[in-house]
Amino acid sequence: MKADVLVVGSGLAGCTAAERLASRGLQVVVIEKRPHIGGNLYDGLDDNGVVIHRYGPHIFHTNEASVFHYLSRFTDWRPYEHRVLASVGGRLYPFPVNLDTLNGFFNLTLDEKEAEEFLRRKRTPLPEIRNSEDAVLARTGREICDAFFRGYTRKQWGMDLSELDAQVANRIPIRTNRDDRYFTDRFQFMPTSGFTRMIKSMLDHPRIEVIRNVDYLHERWKFKPRHIVFTGPIDAYYDFVFGRLPYRSTRFEFIHYPAVARHQAAAVINYPNDHAFTRVTEYKWLTAQQHAGTTIGLEYPGTEGEPCYPIPNSRNRLLYMKYAALASKERSVTFLGRLAEYRYYNMDQVVLRALAESDKIAALLR
Ligand code: FAD
Ligand code: UDP
Repeated sequence: MKADVLVVGSGLAGCTAAERLASRGLQVVVIEKRPHIGGNLYDGLDDNGVVIHRYGPHIFHTNEASVFHYLSRFTDWRPYEHRVLASVGGRLYPFPVNLDTLNGFFNLTLDEKEAEEFLRRKRTPLPEIRNSEDAVLARTGREICDAFFRGYTRKQWGMDLSELDAQVANRIPIRTNRDDRYFTDRFQFMPTSGFTRMIKSMLDHPRIEVIRNVDYLHERWKFKPRHIVFTGPIDAYYDFVFGRLPYRSTRFEFIHYPAVARHQAAAVINYPNDHAFTRVTEYKWLTAQQHAGTTIGLEYPGTEGEPCYPIPNSRNRLLYMKYAALASKERSVTFLGRLAEYRYYNMDQVVLRALAESDKIAALLR
């Protein structure tokens, strides 16, 4: 098959690269092993006509104006600010922890200044932040850490907070004001017609051909492009020569309630200490869809299924570095995205990386 560039994977990384390279005059083939495009962003109707995200709740948020403006070529947006509650001891609290969480959990009536002082006393003094446990203890102390973080993390990653890089828990701010938004980025939106439609529009180009249901690694010999953009797991590309990089997966269970307009008090409710699932998403909150019923999605983390998350810790980073060393020797392969770079990227980071790498590839193939 003839192409200037073969893009392996139709997630956001692959589609951004494909679109940019095709727009520079290159002939692009996108090959996707799943039956659908979009990777983990894939959304669509369930059997009952409710829009769901098949691989868990996705909210677009960024401070990068360039990323927002780039994606705005392919979708209209609906402003959306995400809010999450945590269920602890049978009560619901705003999460990330804020002033109302502190007052509710400790049964206090602090104002913002008093809450700062309160946290100063609660914090565990640590000379160095070595991992996610330290990252939480140093900001909140032990009670909040054990009630809101330890159990959730154990379920989500199958390991203790202390076994993960600080960056994992540091994704979550600790607030002493009453801001109850999950993200504080400048741009927070949902694509009006969904992520899959946005992705479809990115791939809708006369110089892009999309092939689905084909695993590139099973049919490498069929393709002789000038350049490859690989967005699958990097260890699989190299036939696991140094051993497997661990990726965390999630099993999603969807439940539909035919005559319930609203099921829960927020888009997402986290269950750090109860149940085998981590969180429950009610999709109508995210999509603003009008429907007589509603659908919720429960997330059961595990090791089986599509890889969803690289697992950030020093052991895995060392293993990844071995693969990265092989990758750095490749002149005609670019590794891009969450799985290929083994990084806990959000969508906007993936787009930013893909825009930068596409410039380099276009210059190389000129
Ligand atoms: P992927 O979406 O994983 O795409 C890789 C694609 O490559 C897949 O389609 C896969 O099938 C295909 N592929 C792999 N190997 C092969 C092969 N050998 N042959 C052919 N095809 C192959 N980010 C946010 O910004 N906001 C959020 O709210 C948010 N929520 C998230 C919630 C969950 C549960 C998860 C898992 C992630 C979330 N993210 C969120 C992160 C976001 O999903 C990623 O940043 C983004 O989707 C990564 O895109 P990607 O293209 O790198 O990877
Ligand atoms: N986390 C937690 N309790 C929560 C929510 C998050 O301990 O109620 C921790 C957990 O380790 C999680 C990390 O913070 O993996 C990052 O959370 P985020 O919501 O960013 O995870 P994602 O949406 O990427 O799954």
